Amino acid sequence: MSEPLRLQGISASAGYAEGPLFDLDQTVVSYVGKETADDEKAALEAAIAVATSRLTALSEMAEGDAADILEFQIAMLQDDALSSPAFAAIRTGLPADKAWRQALDTEIAGYDASDQDYFRARAADIRDIRDQVLRALSEDGDVQAPTGAILYGWDIAPTRFLETDWSSGGGIALKAGSTASHVAMLARSRGVPMVVGLGTSLARLTGTALLDAEHGGIVLSPSKTEIAAFRQSSSSFRARSDRAGTFLARPAVTKAGTAVRVQVNIADPSDVDLIDITTCDGVGLMRTEFLFGKTLPDEETQYRAYRKVLEWAGEKPVTIRTVDAGGDKPVPGFTIEESNPFLGLRGIRLSLARPEVFRVQIRALLRAAVHGSLKVMFPMIAIVEEYRQAAAMFAEEQTALAARGVAHNMPPLGIMVEVPSVAIVPEAFTDAAFFSIGSNDLTQYVMAAARDNAAVAHLNSVRHPAVLRLIAAVTAFGQREEIPVSLCGDAAGDPASIPSLIEAGLRDLSVAPAQLAMAKAAIADVSV
Ligand code: PEP
Ligand code: MG
Repeated sequence: MSEPLRLQGISASAGYAEGPLFDLDQTVVSYVGKETADDEKAALEAAIAVATSRLTALSEMAEGDAADILEFQIAMLQDDALSSPAFAAIRTGLPADKAWRQALDTEIAGYDASDQDYFRARAADIRDIRDQVLRALSEDGDVQAPTGAILYGWDIAPTRFLETDWSSGGGIALKAGSTASHVAMLARSRGVPMVVGLGTSLARLTGTALLDAEHGGIVLSPSKTEIAAFRQSSSSFRARSDRAGTFLARPAVTKAGTAVRVQVNIADPSDVDLIDITTCDGVGLMRTEFLFGKTLPDEETQYRAYRKVLEWAGEKPVTIRTVDAGGDKPVPGFTIEESNPFLGLRGIRLSLARPEVFRVQIRALLRAAVHGSLKVMFPMIAIVEEYRQAAAMFAEEQTALAARGVAHNMPPLGIMVEVPSVAIVPEAFTDAAFFSIGSNDLTQYVMAAARDNAAVAHLNSVRHPAVLRLIAAVTAFGQREEIPVSLCGDAAGDPASIPSLIEAGLRDLSVAPAQLAMAKAAIADVSV
């Protein structure tokens, strides 16, 4: 029996899986070359058509995120810009499979080389499109993973994820990959355990593996003791998830009886369709950059999106954040290419630099405010002048709407506390109506460890005393000055971090909807 081998990566979707490894990188493509270039061209056209109709059939059965991903892939596949280099190569004498692979690999290399996580994450979609067409060109069928297997490879195609039957378990272990990829998003919403950033190639691809996607690790050729310990952790995770479900309907209270407000973080307005408003205390963060897709959204589109969420929440508060484009969230036509986007023109800096775009959002927010209990906050505030400029623009747009007789309300205006300059000197920001701590960015800036880099994941911890001390100081300052303080970074939904956050004085957390039950259960275990 070989020695156990342990690899550590980053958890992209918590959970446990035990099963045989399945090699995702085994591409079986046997293409039989054609007589003439015209025949090669016809073969590629036919294969693109087959791949498109296969994706269309899948998308007709898909909903929500999955449908969006497939529509994105279909649009890419139908874009001549993607296929024309392959047809050009066929004219120079290359067979269809080589021409297609060469053209798509060049495209993939471009995405892989991007310094923006969003674009690197899209490389998986282009790889998927490449393989869909190669599969359609091939004489052989596709190799299906056995049920319950752990799919292991460089990356995983979204269609592979959607075609896999996860009902009997299984998981995903990637050498590369990203927690921001489409598949990571799907895995979290379907509860499929997934680990990314495992790095090195595994020599052994046979036998059972143990995937611990709660802590981001995998063990190959495990010993009996390791299997027993793994099964214990896995059943404790399952028990915690089941128990968590019973907390969903109740208000969150610690063991000592301290009430904690738990709100949700959303992005797309349709996210609220799946949430029962009675299970949460409102929306602590609506990220609006996701409305900024290929084109900048007009005032009406934004107004409708905000109004939908406000009406859903009724009397409960909805905190909408003005667009936080840039960093790991580029928006074509709005953000700019930068060598270090996390330290560049992102969040409020970009909005103030592009007032014509910002004012459209401000008007939509002022108008939507009449439909519920709206609060607005600004991302990436570093100095108080940014807050004052943004607030002055709200006041100007309010005057203009009033002059035109358009219904509107001025919401309370607050700030994200995610740049260390604010957390260190909160007294400079008493103009703000409220503070919302963005632990994702605050942690990466305090620890100088990027939030999306597996190599420095061990440094990127909200529980580091340096980060916790800042959070406690901001919370205490808010209490003294009667400025409400909440926390809306991912740490709020992490059961392992919740006790430290409550001990730091926080009583208001905002979490991803999928984490709501677990967060409430974790709060119930805190003794403060
Ligand atoms: C944060 O930084 O913690 C936060 C909530 O904002 P985002 O993750 O959108 O940067
Ligand atoms: Mg942030």
